[in-house]
Order: sequence, then C-alpha cells, then structure tokens
Amino acid sequence: MQNEPPLIEYRNVTVNRGQRIALENVSLSIGQGENVAILGPNGSGKSTLIKTITRECYPRLIPGSSLRILGRDTWNIFELRPLLGVVSSDLVLSCLGPYTAREIVLSGFFSSIGLWPHHHVRPAMEEKTDQAMERLEVAHLAARPMTELSTGEARRVVIARALVHEPRALVLDEPTASLDLHATYELRCTLRRIAAAGTGIIMVTHHLDDIIPEIGRVILLKAGRVFADGPKEEILTADRLAALFGTRFELVRRDGYYHLW
Ligand code: ADP
Ligand code: MG
Repeated sequence: MQNEPPLIEYRNVTVNRGQRIALENVSLSIGQGENVAILGPNGSGKSTLIKTITRECYPRLIPGSSLRILGRDTWNIFELRPLLGVVSSDLVLSCLGPYTAREIVLSGFFSSIGLWPHHHVRPAMEEKTDQAMERLEVAHLAARPMTELSTGEARRVVIARALVHEPRALVLDEPTASLDLHATYELRCTLRRIAAAGTGIIMVTHHLDDIIPEIGRVILLKAGRVFADGPKEEILTADRLAALFGTRFELVRRDGYYHLW
C-alpha cells in the first residue's frame, strides 16, 4: 500500500458557512484502511469536514488548497459512492420518507433516496441489499416504512445503504447521537465488526466513548482547526481534552474504551 495515495487528503482547506469560517486551513490525510475518530466540541467544524467530501460544502479556492480522494481532485457522486459510504444526520433525515427500509438500502445503488420508475434493479443488487441488511441486523425491518422505525433502526438501515457498494471506508457523522443506551451499545458492536472485517471507519463525534477499540488514530478539531492528530494513546490525555472541551474531567481507560468522569 506504500505507493497508494491516501483515501482522503485535505490540504489547507478553508470553508465558509454564511458569515463564519467553519474550517480554517485544515490539513489532514487519512490512509486506506485506517480507522480514525475526529473528535471535537459542538461547532468545531466536524460536520463541515464531512460535507466537504460530499460536496455539500465547498472549500474556498485558495492557491495550495485541495481536497483529494485517492489522489484525485474531482469526482462525481456516482464514482465516489463505491469508495466512501457517507452517513450524515442530514442523510438519515432525508431517508425518513414514504419508503420501506429495503427500498432505502436498494436505492444506495442509484445514489437516490427511494426507488424511481427508471431504476432498473438487477438480481445482484437485491442480493447485496439483503446481505447488507443482514450485516446491520435490520433484515427483519425490510418491509417496514422508514417513518415507523426507531432512531437507531433508521440509522442502521442508512448505514446498510452505505455498505451496499462495499466501500473502502464508512464515514459517519455522530453515529450514536440521540440513541438510547442499548441502541448505542449495539451500534458500537456492529461498527466494531465492520472495522474488523476490513472496512475503514472514519467517525466524527463529540462522545469520547464512541471511539471503539479498533480506532487507532484520533484527530481533535477545535474552532475549525486541527488541534491535535496522532495515535489514540498519545492524543487522548486529560490535559488535552480539558483544553479541547474547556472543562476538566478525569480520563479513564477501560477495556479499550476511554471515558470522562
Ligand atoms: P460540528 O459538526 O462540529 O458541530 P459544524 O461543522 O456543523 O460543527 O459547524 C461549524 C461552524 O459552522 C459553526 O460555527 C456553525 O455555527 C457554522 N455553521 C454550520 N452550519 C451552518 C449554516 N448552515 N450556516 C451558517 N453557519 C453554519
Ligand atoms: Mg455536526
């Protein structure tokens, strides 16, 4: 893999949102197969970072600034989907329409939300859809309308949708937000299995305990800038987290997870 380009590479990326600078001069590179957590307080630019990948937000055109995926600057969404399975909270919301769970997963093949008359569903797509739903343990929800699922169930369905192409990495924005304890625990176990099976996990979160043991690298984002980046054991210290979140906690490590008290 030594000569392969990074999966995602931000170079001096600055993004404005309205009057604000949401990301400022961000440089970071994520290799293929790396499992990474991007941790930061509310408003630190985490979602903007993901939205620059999906082209919902555009970097300012500054000389020396680039956002490359597998070494390339320009991609269309259809080429990108098999590489990166991006699951944002906005995407989950968009999927809560008049579709069954299975239609949502199948529509991953068309980069659409729900199926339309011009979509031609091939048997291989049906097969991959069923496999992805089984992987996410949502096969039993196949015929249920998205609007009747719990938050945790809907999120799993949308993650299954992102996996139909067997992407190199899953890119998740706050995957456990507003899930109850049980759904949070179950989703973390599922993400651990996905990482163990070789799909990279790139996860944005403000919860330290979302960082599953498979994640070896942590990038801290503060006020739109990279505050620290490196191996999890080096980056996650009580002092650094106090400087990041503005409150002092005791940091406890247990069974490969970190917690704040
Ligand atoms: P995070 O996901 O870390 O909470 P965001 O990337 O959503 O942070 O936001 C980064 C900054 O951009 C914040 O200052 C936020 O207020 C601002 N921002 C986010 N969305 C918008 C928007 N639609 N219009 C204007 N400013 C926005
Ligand atoms: Mg966010």
